[in-house]
Amino acid sequence: MTCFMMQQGVFLVLLTLLSLPVHVHASEQAPVHAKTYSEPVSFDWRNLIHRSQLAGLHVFEGDHLVLITDRPRRVGDDIEKLPEIFDEAVNVWADYYSIPLSVVSDWKVCGCLIVDRERFREAGLLPDAIPDFTNGYCDHYRFWFVDQSNPAYRRHLMLHEGVHAFTTTLLNMSAPTWYTEGIAEWLATHRLMQDTETYEHTPIPSSSNDVEQLGRIEMIHRLYNAGGATGIQEVFKLRPTRHGTIDSYALAWSVVAFLTTHPRYQEAFVAMEQNPFDKRMTHRLTTHAGWNPTVVSRDFNAFISEIDYGYDTDSMIIDWSQGDLVPDEGVASSVAADRGWQNPGWCLEAGQHYRLQATGLCTVGAIQEGDGQLELKSTADGISIDWYRGKPLGRLLAAQWVNKGSKSCFELTGEGAEIDFIARRSGPLFLKINNPPGQLRECRGAIRVQIVHDESVELSPSEK
Ligand SMILES: [Zn+2]
Repeated sequence: MTCFMMQQGVFLVLLTLLSLPVHVHASEQAPVHAKTYSEPVSFDWRNLIHRSQLAGLHVFEGDHLVLITDRPRRVGDDIEKLPEIFDEAVNVWADYYSIPLSVVSDWKVCGCLIVDRERFREAGLLPDAIPDFTNGYCDHYRFWFVDQSNPAYRRHLMLHEGVHAFTTTLLNMSAPTWYTEGIAEWLATHRLMQDTETYEHTPIPSSSNDVEQLGRIEMIHRLYNAGGATGIQEVFKLRPTRHGTIDSYALAWSVVAFLTTHPRYQEAFVAMEQNPFDKRMTHRLTTHAGWNPTVVSRDFNAFISEIDYGYDTDSMIIDWSQGDLVPDEGVASSVAADRGWQNPGWCLEAGQHYRLQATGLCTVGAIQEGDGQLELKSTADGISIDWYRGKPLGRLLAAQWVNKGSKSCFELTGEGAEIDFIARRSGPLFLKINNPPGQLRECRGAIRVQIVHDESVELSPSEK
């Protein structure tokens, strides 16, 4: 699913050999729109279809896709449904880029689902001009992808290459790799609705069952836990490759997910996505008013440290303000159960001793009991009915942010209803109630947390 785009000259020659365009829309008929796009070129795919059938290949056709495959038909196979799913996805992509459906209705591409590359070469369907690729390759109105044993991942690859075809032809996209790969991943990520088996765009999947074998989120966790997560500036520098690694796709997806959903960056991202989709997109993004590279990097690192299935950025936004020193008499605040890391406004001093005491109960989830739902209530110590990231659900976590470049992270200072610690650094304290991000919408209430600065025990920062 790489996306080395061929040079325009090679592309034109190739298509001339295959079939001639039968109709080109007059661009002056296009409606005026905030975003510009190219009118689709309509190809007559009949020659290609005929050639495929002569070679004994299967052809499935929808409104926007001619799918050719050498995959043997099997009982219960979903291959014939792929063009229909592709059509549904095209509507979502058109909506994303504000391209009227009347324009998209004439857009149709040809995709080859390959088991044996030789059969396609022999049939003249995989020209020598197409370079070797690992999973997939897109050349404007045509793409090729390698068959997968998992139906969900096979669909994902088809849609990933389909997004490349869509953006290259209709938007003349020649964008930096992080964007082309990130947006292809973003727009391809989906699940099939349970009853209708139709395409539903789930750019941040709510369950791993919806995106079997995709593994983007797990890859980010692995990178993060191994200390190998990359800063946003490094992802911006990703280079195109025909054999893209899963981690580079995961990181490209994570940057698009971050910029698309985070309220601090949505405006800059949308502004960047106005034409032209050229190599200067990153420059336009990072010079947008309000783009602060330090805060962006910190927000991105926090994002990838917390990303998980069902992640909802709105409930995970972090207030980085420094706050005030903890007064001698102590101070109290509430920690909401339905949010990620929260900043109560307490600025700690390195080497100082603090005590936290948490009281109250909050709802940290629900379980099915009979016909109804039973709410799970928890104190700040948490409940052991379920665990997340090695700690009981509902457990109060306290942390400080550690700046270590691309490895910046939250460092726990303590957990539970009674926390006693010496601050390792000066800066704000962050608190949250342990729960998977996807479960926060089931949570309610807050617990009360009081902090006291204990001057009876003090260490200098050097003694920490
Ligand atoms: Zn790609």
